Amino acid sequence: MEKLSDRDKKHLWHPLTQHKVSPDVLAISRASGALLYDEDGKEYVDGIASWYTCMYGHCNPFILDKVMDQMQRLDQVVFSGFTHEPAVRLSEELVKILPEGQQKLFFSDNGSTATEIGIKMALQYHFNQGQKRNVLLAFEEGFHGDTFGAMSVSGLSVYNGPFEDFFIEVERIPVPTKENIGSVLTQLEHRLKNNNLAGFIYEPLVQGAAAMKMHDAEGLDKILALLKECGVLLIADEVMTGFGKTGLPFASDYLQTKPDIVCLSKALTAGLIPMGLTTCTEEVYMAFYSDDIAKGLFHGHTYSANPLACTTALAALELLQSEEIQQSIKAISQWHQQFGEEIKDHPKVGSIRQLGVIFALDLNVKMERYGNLRNKLFTHFMDQGVFLRPLGSTIYILAPYVTTKDQMERIYSAIRSALELV
Ligand SMILES: *Cc1c(COP(=O)(O)O)cnc(C)c1O
Repeated sequence: MEKLSDRDKKHLWHPLTQHKVSPDVLAISRASGALLYDEDGKEYVDGIASWYTCMYGHCNPFILDKVMDQMQRLDQVVFSGFTHEPAVRLSEELVKILPEGQQKLFFSDNGSTATEIGIKMALQYHFNQGQKRNVLLAFEEGFHGDTFGAMSVSGLSVYNGPFEDFFIEVERIPVPTKENIGSVLTQLEHRLKNNNLAGFIYEPLVQGAAAMKMHDAEGLDKILALLKECGVLLIADEVMTGFGKTGLPFASDYLQTKPDIVCLSKALTAGLIPMGLTTCTEEVYMAFYSDDIAKGLFHGHTYSANPLACTTALAALELLQSEEIQQSIKAISQWHQQFGEEIKDHPKVGSIRQLGVIFALDLNVKMERYGNLRNKLFTHFMDQGVFLRPLGSTIYILAPYVTTKDQMERIYSAIRSALELV
C-alpha cells in the first residue's frame, strides 16, 4: 500500500505551504497525551500542543467521554432561535473565569472568525450610536487570523501582501518597551485628538505568530487605560494566550485595564472540535439591543455553538480548573525557568523569555522565517522525536500541560543539541 504521505500529494493543498519548495508532509496516524505517532510508528513529543490547542493532551479520555455521551443526545441544532444545555452551561461556567466584566458570548468556528466578529462588534458599536469611528488600531507584528478583517489588523506581510488593497483601515503602534513607552503614549495622545478610532486589537503580553514576542504589562496597561478613557473599545485577542498558558487563566488577568471584547479559540476546545468565541461586556451588548432590528449583530455561522464543541469546551474548562492541571502549569513553568538558566549564557543563545508554560529562545544567528537553516533545525528536532516549529531564529516550546518531566527533558535535550548544530 502506498504511504499516506505520498497519496496526500495527489489532491491535497496544505495551509501556509509553498508546495514547490516544501513538497513533503508527514502522516500522523494517532496521538495520545503529549505524543504523536507517524504512519511508521515513530513517536514525537508534541512540543507546541498542535498549535496550542491540545493543552490537556491528545485524545484526553475525560473530554472524549463527555463528548461521546453528548453526541448520543444532541449533535447539532440551529443556534438562531434555539438553544441547548451545553451552550447555556458553558456560558455560566466561562463567565466565572473570564476577565472582569465579560458577560455575553457570541459563538463562531475558529480564531479568525472570533477576531473578525470582535472587529465587527467594535465598528458597529459606534455605528449604532451614530458615531463615525471607522479606524482600527493594532500592534505592529500582531497576528489575528486569515479572514479579511483579521488580516487587515495583522502585521505580518508574508501572509497578507496580495490582499493589502482590500483591507479595512488600520493604524499600527509598536509594542511597549521600557524605552519606547513614553513616546508611544505621547504619539497616541496626539492621535486621539481625532476621535475616529473604533477599537484597539491586541494580543496581550505575548504575540504568538511573531515568534512568542513578549511585551511589558506595565506599558500595555498605560496604553489600554489611555485608549479606554477616549472610548476606543479594547479587543483582547486571547486566542493563543487564553486558558492558562501564561500561568493565569487569561493574559488580561495580569493587566489592570480590562478588555471590552475578548476573542477565544484554540485551547477553548482542547484540540478536539473547532470553535471560536467572542465575548463582550454588558455595555457593548447594549449598543446592539434595540427595537430596531438593523441594530442587531447580523453575523452567524452554520455551526455556531455546536453542542459537541460546547461540551468539549466545558470539559476542558473543568480540567483547567482541576488541582492536577494547575499543579502541572506551575511545574512546567519551573522546569522552563531552570532550563532557561542553564542555557542563557550559551554563545548561540541571543535571548530567552518565558511566561507561564510559554518558553522562547532567540538564536544568535541571522535566519529567515522560512529559510534553509530554519528547515535544518526543524528536521533535527523531528529526527530527535520532538515536534517543534521554529519561527525564523526563534525556537519556542508550548507543550501540553500533561507533558511529563521525561518528555519535556526530551525537548530540552533536542534544543541543547540544536545549539551545537547552528
Ligand atoms: C491562531 C490565532 C488566530 C487565528 O485562529 P485560527 O483558528 O487559526 O483562525 C488569531 N489570533 C491569534 C492570537 C492566534 O494565535
